[in-house]
Amino acid sequence: MKYERRTFPGGTHIQDFKGFTNSLETQEAKAPAKVYIPMSMHIGAPSKPLVAVGDLVKMGQKIGESQGFVSVPAHASVSGKVVGFQRMPIPNGRMADCVVIENDFKDEWLEGLLQTEKDPKSLDPKELAARILDAGMVGMGGATFPSHVKYAPSKEGKKADHIILNGIECEPFLTADHRIMLERPERIIAGLKYMMKLADCPKGVIAIEENKMDAFELMIKLTEADNTIETVVCKEKYPQGSEKQLIYSVTGREVPPGGLPLDVGVIVNNVGTAAAVADAVEFKRPLIDRIVTLNGNGVAKPMNYRVRIGTLYRDLIEQNGSVLGDTVKVISGGPMMGFAVYSLDIPVMKGTSGILVFNEESQVLKREEEGPCVRCARCVDACPMGLEPTSIVKAAKRRDWPEAKVYDVTSCIECGSCAYVCPSMIPLVHYIRLAKQYVTSKDGNGAVNPFLV
Ligand code: SF4
Ligand code: SF4
Repeated sequence: MKYERRTFPGGTHIQDFKGFTNSLETQEAKAPAKVYIPMSMHIGAPSKPLVAVGDLVKMGQKIGESQGFVSVPAHASVSGKVVGFQRMPIPNGRMADCVVIENDFKDEWLEGLLQTEKDPKSLDPKELAARILDAGMVGMGGATFPSHVKYAPSKEGKKADHIILNGIECEPFLTADHRIMLERPERIIAGLKYMMKLADCPKGVIAIEENKMDAFELMIKLTEADNTIETVVCKEKYPQGSEKQLIYSVTGREVPPGGLPLDVGVIVNNVGTAAAVADAVEFKRPLIDRIVTLNGNGVAKPMNYRVRIGTLYRDLIEQNGSVLGDTVKVISGGPMMGFAVYSLDIPVMKGTSGILVFNEESQVLKREEEGPCVRCARCVDACPMGLEPTSIVKAAKRRDWPEAKVYDVTSCIECGSCAYVCPSMIPLVHYIRLAKQYVTSKDGNGAVNPFLV
């Protein structure tokens, strides 16, 4: 059967390196001896610890309470004893306060959790929102925006007529979303139905990139009898999974600069989030684990693991049997938009989709020296936001921040497409990030931005 391939202007084709893990069943990672649960795994106010050193906790127990509306609680991912509080680095390079729990390896759940709801369809939107908040639900595609906030009624009365589940996963190496679509498709569809009820939205769309046709065909089969859900396939092109590009591909609508998806009647969520929402609603299961792709040429056995939140990167990499001696780079997330990490003693969080380990033989890391701009305009053609990356970079090199603003540097989504296609190996995104920081600093000149001193 032929299906229309949706797409967006700009973007680029990149080698996906997904073949190492996309056909392997997800493995359950062994829970470590200690977990480090950050009180800040989401956008918004950090959670406030509810436990003290010496407390015994069960799996799924709330150990951090949300503070304010844009915040979510944190839960114990193992049963055991609270042995300390530690301020430590987290994957995005910032520091966070963590509750340290020593695992008793009994895996005892808190009483009252994991009980099947008799009639989940009878829950009204208020009850659904309460369950999602109680479960500490956030966007698991990396944005980590609290889910109950995304689905709260808009003050301006804006309504969604489409909820799009993002099953694109366009970053190379990552296959966590691909595997969850193959392994837990019914949970994803159930979660989408709850999201539609929450937002009083008539239509759900599951969007999948064409390099995952097995998942696409499975979803088509499972949703064909439901005329409120459509499964669509999108062209394999980077950054197809970026929110604005996905909305354009699926609906043809353009989110205005500085605007939100809801401004054009859309809410976007990741497929993994949908499965976790279904578990939260039907079993009161808090978000205490997630699928993480462990990949890269420095990994002994590339694999997707279901990992307890708070597991140190080091523990997961060592349990995989990987030897880190000649490692030159570890990336949290994908190679295009992820963060290079400077310590392996950082915890897996709700938004950790992948851990990539590279040694010096990696082709991915090879970069030649920066050459002069040859004015080929490839970066302009590749930019999915319609920007002129080369002009922004020229302004940034002159430290002409007003000029960078004229070229709309703040609309850059830092996807890296421009740098990827540049034949002169100019690290365009580095310059663009710098310009963005100056332009968005309070005086527009970087003077009060602490990162620029
Ligand atoms: S300018 Fe920004 S949005 Fe455009 S390709 Fe480069 S990184 Fe992506
Ligand atoms: S792709 Fe590189 S060389 Fe070509 S115009 Fe852009 S910055 Fe210049």
